[in-house]
Amino acid sequence: MTNSYDFIIIGAGHNGLVAAAYRAKRGKKVLVLERRAVVGGTVVTELFGDGFTVDSVQTGGYLRPHIIKDLKLGLDTSGTSTRSTRPPFISLQPDGNHLILNAEAIKCFSEKDAARWGDFVRFMDKAAYILDVAYETVMPRLPKDFSLREGYGLLELGLELRLAGRRDMVNFIRALPMTAQELLEEYFESEPLKAALAALAIHGHTLGPMEAGTGYTLIHNWLNRGGLAHVNVGRAGEITKALANAVKSFGGEIRTGAEVERIQVDTYTCKGVVLKSGEEISADTVISAVDPKRTLLNLVGAPNLPPEFVWKVQSIKMRGSVAKIHLLTDGSHGIPEGTLVVAPSIKYLEKAYDAAKYGEISEKPYLEITTSGNVVSIHFQFAPYHLKHGTWNLKHETLKDLAINTLAAYFPNLQSRITNYHIITPLDLEQTYGLTEGDLNHGQLMLDQFLFMRPIPGWSNHRTPIDNLYLCGSGVHGGGGVSGAAGRNVVKVLK
Ligand SMILES: Cc1cc2nc3c(=O)[nH]c(=O)nc-3n(C[C@H](O)[C@H](O)[C@H](O)COP(=O)(O)OP(=O)(O)OC[C@H]3O[C@@H](n4cnc5c(N)ncnc54)[C@H](O)[C@@H]3O)c2cc1C
Repeated sequence: MTNSYDFIIIGAGHNGLVAAAYRAKRGKKVLVLERRAVVGGTVVTELFGDGFTVDSVQTGGYLRPHIIKDLKLGLDTSGTSTRSTRPPFISLQPDGNHLILNAEAIKCFSEKDAARWGDFVRFMDKAAYILDVAYETVMPRLPKDFSLREGYGLLELGLELRLAGRRDMVNFIRALPMTAQELLEEYFESEPLKAALAALAIHGHTLGPMEAGTGYTLIHNWLNRGGLAHVNVGRAGEITKALANAVKSFGGEIRTGAEVERIQVDTYTCKGVVLKSGEEISADTVISAVDPKRTLLNLVGAPNLPPEFVWKVQSIKMRGSVAKIHLLTDGSHGIPEGTLVVAPSIKYLEKAYDAAKYGEISEKPYLEITTSGNVVSIHFQFAPYHLKHGTWNLKHETLKDLAINTLAAYFPNLQSRITNYHIITPLDLEQTYGLTEGDLNHGQLMLDQFLFMRPIPGWSNHRTPIDNLYLCGSGVHGGGGVSGAAGRNVVKVLK
């Protein structure tokens, strides 16, 4: 062993950087190891050619204000708090109309829905608040015994929920297992409005709006955007750059181009890591922000873990089905600022999802479009990681054509304005960005993989069967999304 640290953090995504910054701030000797040449993980702004700079994977981001304050990140959070000043959320309609999601514009579709909009937003904000409190609470190791300290966190959560009000709490619990369709039908009659909101429920998840549990994913996504539209579009990289600067300002070290090949374990105790280069680095504690499957099965290795635990980790559902298409244009793309969706009806979204069930790319996809200067970015669902026919290496053009042809119905001149493009398939998400099976959240956000069941039942408190090895990425409770909750929570359980 050449070097020794108090803490090694594997992965410089936003969660790893949050954990590293909090530890370095406490005066600990911290080293962050990142396999890519840049920090940020999925929260990154990259250059793909001359004048072609874009949030390559995650659009914008909403890191929690208390983390920004604690770590003195100096980021502007005003765009997240004042909803009225942010760019709109727009659903593109087949008849050429645009449905802007606010009470005034909804009137054109349904007076009744416009009247209910305020109630809906109030419920979603409250539900998101309750979920946020749950995400910031370290879950006890159910069904195992848990310590008094962990039980105290749960007590606090119970109190917060009680303070949220009995009716809101009951409505929140009732909404979680519902389908997005059922939940939205309780509020609205207009199909375009329900479909636009259902799009948010399935964004990033391999689920259709008629699937149980999309009530939960709707609330999750509302929470992690602070509403409907993306914030700070084109500036995702500023978040992780600020975090990296904070790590360094507190005395921590960050090494890029440093892929961890193996976590060193000696009879269930973590000793450090071995890099792909062969370099060995020791540490009292290793925290992995890489997804649980990759961390435990690849970096630790099954022979170092109890067999039953290995089986449970193997069973974590990773089902990536998102691709990104970035188009550099001559600037006259004609797409308005905001977060735009192609989601004309709930049936359209469900059919788009049907393709993923059979390993096929949606012929009529759900698209979410954002622009940043000359660049048009398209989030494409569904593009399942596991294809029934062919390989992703040969599907780049297919994805581009499907996205552009779908958008041609709304922006007929777009095709002629494109000067360059960059496609990110689910396989690229795995190979370039390190997301196992292209799963954005390091494991699907489903009701059997959340709260004390994330990443697996019995191991929801960031610990692992290996002493001194902890998890802090999106695959553990508090993740996914760009909140920093998982990175913040792990610090609470460290010795
Ligand atoms: C296309 C897309 C759209 C999304 N949209 C939304 C959205 O609308 N709303 C929302 O809330 N969330 C969204 N997400 C999810 C969100 O971006 C992620 O959940 C979150 O950013 C993950 O952060 P993280 O820090 O946990 O992990 P990551 O950002 O994945 O970081 C992990 C890091 O570990 C590194 N690494 C991996 N293996 C090794 C190794 N062996 N050695 C060293 N380093 C390693 C990786 O390179 C990476 O930098 C989206 C994600 C994607 C990809």
